[in-house]
Amino acid sequence: MITDVGTGPRVLLRRLREVMAENIQPQARLDRIVRLVAANMVAEVCSIYLRRGDTVLELCATEGLNPESVHQTTLQVGEGLVGVVAESLEPLKLSDARSHPKFAYRPETGEDPYNSFLGVPMLRNAQLLGVLVVQNQTRRHYTDEEVEALQTIAVVLAEMVVSGALVDPEDFSGGSDLLQRSWRLEGVGIAEGIAMGHVVLHEPRVEVVHAIAEDTSAEQERLTNSIAELRRWIDTTLARPDLSTTGEHRDVLEAYRMFAHDRGWIRRIREAIDTGLTAEAAVHRVQDETRTQMTKQSDPFWRERLHDLDDLSNRLLRHLAGKTTSAASEDLPKDAIICARAMGPAELLDYDQKALRGLVLEEGSATSHVAIVARALDIPLIGRVAGLLDRVESHHAIILDGLSGEVYIRPQSDVIDAYAEKVRFRARRQAQYARLRDKPAVTKDGVEISLNINSGLLVDLPHLAQSGAAGIGLFRTELQFMVSSTFPRLRMQMDLYSKVLDEADGRPVVFRTLDLGSDKVLPYFTHDREENPAMGWRAIRIALDRPALLRYQIRALLGAAEGRELRMMFPMISEVSEFVSARRLVDRELERRRKLGLKAPADIKVGTMLEVPALAWQLDALCQHVDFISVGSNDLLQFLYASDRGHPRLSDRYDTLSAAVMSVLKTVLETCNRHDVPVSLCGEMAGRPLDAMALIGLGFRTISMPPTSVGPVKMMIRSLNAAALQEYLKSVDGQTQGSLRAGFEEFAKKHGVSV
Ligand code: PEP
Ligand code: MG
Repeated sequence: MITDVGTGPRVLLRRLREVMAENIQPQARLDRIVRLVAANMVAEVCSIYLRRGDTVLELCATEGLNPESVHQTTLQVGEGLVGVVAESLEPLKLSDARSHPKFAYRPETGEDPYNSFLGVPMLRNAQLLGVLVVQNQTRRHYTDEEVEALQTIAVVLAEMVVSGALVDPEDFSGGSDLLQRSWRLEGVGIAEGIAMGHVVLHEPRVEVVHAIAEDTSAEQERLTNSIAELRRWIDTTLARPDLSTTGEHRDVLEAYRMFAHDRGWIRRIREAIDTGLTAEAAVHRVQDETRTQMTKQSDPFWRERLHDLDDLSNRLLRHLAGKTTSAASEDLPKDAIICARAMGPAELLDYDQKALRGLVLEEGSATSHVAIVARALDIPLIGRVAGLLDRVESHHAIILDGLSGEVYIRPQSDVIDAYAEKVRFRARRQAQYARLRDKPAVTKDGVEISLNINSGLLVDLPHLAQSGAAGIGLFRTELQFMVSSTFPRLRMQMDLYSKVLDEADGRPVVFRTLDLGSDKVLPYFTHDREENPAMGWRAIRIALDRPALLRYQIRALLGAAEGRELRMMFPMISEVSEFVSARRLVDRELERRRKLGLKAPADIKVGTMLEVPALAWQLDALCQHVDFISVGSNDLLQFLYASDRGHPRLSDRYDTLSAAVMSVLKTVLETCNRHDVPVSLCGEMAGRPLDAMALIGLGFRTISMPPTSVGPVKMMIRSLNAAALQEYLKSVDGQTQGSLRAGFEEFAKKHGVSV
């Protein structure tokens, strides 16, 4: 019999700690605990019900009820008063329990004489582990302090359950647990590819190791300091120049700021510490309450805000634990799949690329800057995956399908087998492409095609060698600006360009000057909101209005290319005069170098993108000024068809192989050939084997594409007879409407072209 029970939760927690330290069997420990709690709470009954499997609550220990019923009596979630607590995940206190409509009588327990009931859920990470109950014979009105005290004990018991100190956690942590079951979630595929690997939480969770405080005032002080740090972190992040003045990320931080100053939230944590918990356990306890509310909230706005508060609680926990850096600085599994709510481009670059296999975000869109980096790294990225972070746990298995946007968490063996087969298939294809790497891109009848890659960041330069491409046909210089948190200075631009030229090692590189605007926005560059940003103040239009920007870039390019060949082109030229003005800036910068006695590039070629339809009707004049032309088919088609290139409902509406597009491209080619001006094409269509075949049929001999497309396109080229294709095209020359796709497919099939 226990005599020195003392009163109050803190005394009880001290006793619990002693029980934890005793060398006794788990069941004996459970029995000791219920006796202690009953005595401390001055209750005749204290029982612990633990969740077994999906929905069953099993009586695992009791003081006061019939001991024979332990491990015999079970209730379903939702059944009886214990089931109500389990279902609502909230405390339930009743002075006349038997009049409650859900009261369920279990004769074997002998609970008849007990009128009052207080039950609280035992939660961990918002998951139900069990229910802790006290009962009294008298019609007792349990005070709020008593409810609070029992909740604190439930927090400690939950930790004990998970640690295995009370029961075997395998048996008693519930089958439908968000963090245990297999899940298939759907999001939006942003970067293609399949990845099988293990979860890395970008912002690691802090597990509560010690729930019972040694010194409550020291815990209060730790909380005070961590909240101060948390507020400072929010203020500095909000003040960062790379955080756009509006937008989702800022809204979230503003919400963080609001909560970090919320007296109610902090008071609740402080009260939980006062009951004897450590600061971490107290934050967890309040966080569990928030999560319970979150699951019940139907208004999306409030659900989002509760989500923000949940995030902020995690952040506070990391401050308490002194772990404020992301997982990038930790040891990664060799097949890391990073899971996060949102992420900036630079944060993704912090990860060790050798271990990085994929990225999943609860937010994120195709145009987000982290998407650009993911594509450059050639890893799949899935965004907009609701409920991701509630279901993933570090080191658990996960599969991403970047094409379908599916995420499988703790996948079942059939899913693993199916994806393993897909991965093997892709690996076989990759091996086939790799074998072609050093083979020339020549058709069966000897027509040589120059295959180049599109690139824009240092991280994708290795693709040049890996793909065996002839060079870089489009280097999107704006990407460096987009992934950077401040304006890249002249030196940084020059560094990047010279590294690109070093890596290219004599192979041609076409640098495109800044193509800003439209979806390419720089957080640190103020830009008015536009009705039609794709047709707005963008690219060369900005550059000519703010010539200093372009001159700096040209200066960096000239500096980087000292003594080597420099090829550069301008985006979105709509009028010949725009090209002439831009080119004049190049001449002025060259003159400046000459005056300063600086070395010039060995050769300079200045060209233009052809992306605006109007320019196609000025080609004769344009060809007098340019050294080369590169057709930007992404934008050219968008403007030809007046069809937003990023609009999901329009993506299949107009065909890249339509008679209209073929006819425009043919005219461009013929005119350029007549003027002896080299012409190439660098839009996405160049990377699709059938489209690339059509381009070769029209007469293109230089094309540029995403690095992963080089293999498939080269395979197509090596199986193609270009003369036969040209013959075929003559036969459909009269077709001036509709699509030529079906005909091209037929041709490929008939002639065994690999498309
Ligand atoms: C294009 O428009 O085809 C192109 C290659 O440029 P971007 O995709 O960068 O607009
Ligand atoms: Mg473009």
